[in-house]
Amino acid sequence: MNSALTPGDGTRAVRAGLPAPVKHEPTLPGPVFAAHFHLPGEPTGPYTYGRDSNPTWTLLERAIGELEHPGGPVETVCFASGMAAISAVLFSQLRAGDAVVLPDDGYQALPLIAERLRAYGIEVRTAPTAGDAQLELLEGARLLWIESPSNPGLDVCDIRRLVAAAHAAGVLVAVDNTLATPLGQRPLELGADFSVASDTKGTTGHGDLLLGHVTCRDGARAEEIRGWRKVAGAIPGPMEAWLAHRSLATLQLRIDRQCANALALAEALGERREVSGLRYPGLPDDPSYPLATRQMRRYGGVVSFVLPDRAYAERFLESLRLVDDATSFGGVRSSAERRGRWGGDAVPDGFIRLSAGVEDPDDLVADVLRALDEAAERRVTG
Ligand code: PLP
Repeated sequence: MNSALTPGDGTRAVRAGLPAPVKHEPTLPGPVFAAHFHLPGEPTGPYTYGRDSNPTWTLLERAIGELEHPGGPVETVCFASGMAAISAVLFSQLRAGDAVVLPDDGYQALPLIAERLRAYGIEVRTAPTAGDAQLELLEGARLLWIESPSNPGLDVCDIRRLVAAAHAAGVLVAVDNTLATPLGQRPLELGADFSVASDTKGTTGHGDLLLGHVTCRDGARAEEIRGWRKVAGAIPGPMEAWLAHRSLATLQLRIDRQCANALALAEALGERREVSGLRYPGLPDDPSYPLATRQMRRYGGVVSFVLPDRAYAERFLESLRLVDDATSFGGVRSSAERRGRWGGDAVPDGFIRLSAGVEDPDDLVADVLRALDEAAERRVTG
């Protein structure tokens, strides 16, 4: 039960970042479309030019900050996409001659970034997420990048343990929190210096916009991140920022339903003989479960599993009616894809990443089981 002094996630989500009520004003002010602001005399802030700041971003950044670290104070900088947010941390914090530790099983664009970092004279070291393997590579590094749970393998590492070792070695820590969202995990409370996310996914959750953010406790670091945004120009549009803020009001409802649906699907998939390699951090016999239970507040809405081969997986995806064959995850509509089709992840041909939406659990489970049956039947008859 939540006391009035410590409001629950749903209560905080519906009010996050809202300005104090003003008579005749809306609860959430509309998007401010402005390339520049009236600015006679000295060019002082808060609002000068549209690439530097915007009142719609200010409200969204305040909202995300309140969810990332309810104890505050923190500063959040929002970006045009998750990749823009990731790039801002890496390229603002690293210099030629530095070393960075990245997961080798994270989001599939990380190797593309690693290539750029190497070209700029930065040493890139990689290790898997499971078993805290990155611990061995910290000596002399400048930054440790964690993605937990990892996408798409759903491995989890001990963020507190890695942060303690990294900080003892003078290494900064950033956590890609995309899969968990701020309601599923609070990296800053686990000690990280930067919490980074693609808000294209569960945080905004409607599959209709791209956005990212970086939240940090240290104001000077936030200033560096903001400075990078100004230089790179990877700014969110006011409409996207406003839609994102509007979506936060339902964050707890969406995430709770997605987590419940993901668990129901994982349990049903676990009963099927054609399914192997089933992963969901919220399943008590999943290798990620003990750690996830210690450091996460919700297990997320993504389940992964392997079907016998590529053709089998494709038949399954074609047979689904309530689950879109689409990439990305965290949306209100369930989606799934054969992850191997992109070529960027070390996964078997039949590997499926399934993102649970907010449909009724019975309908969703029935659809997935029926699609599995159809995929099996068509193997026999096709
Ligand atoms: N981080 C993770 C874990 C992701 O899954 C993704 C996208 O799938 C990104 C970052 C990149 O986000 P965006 O597509 O918003 O640039």
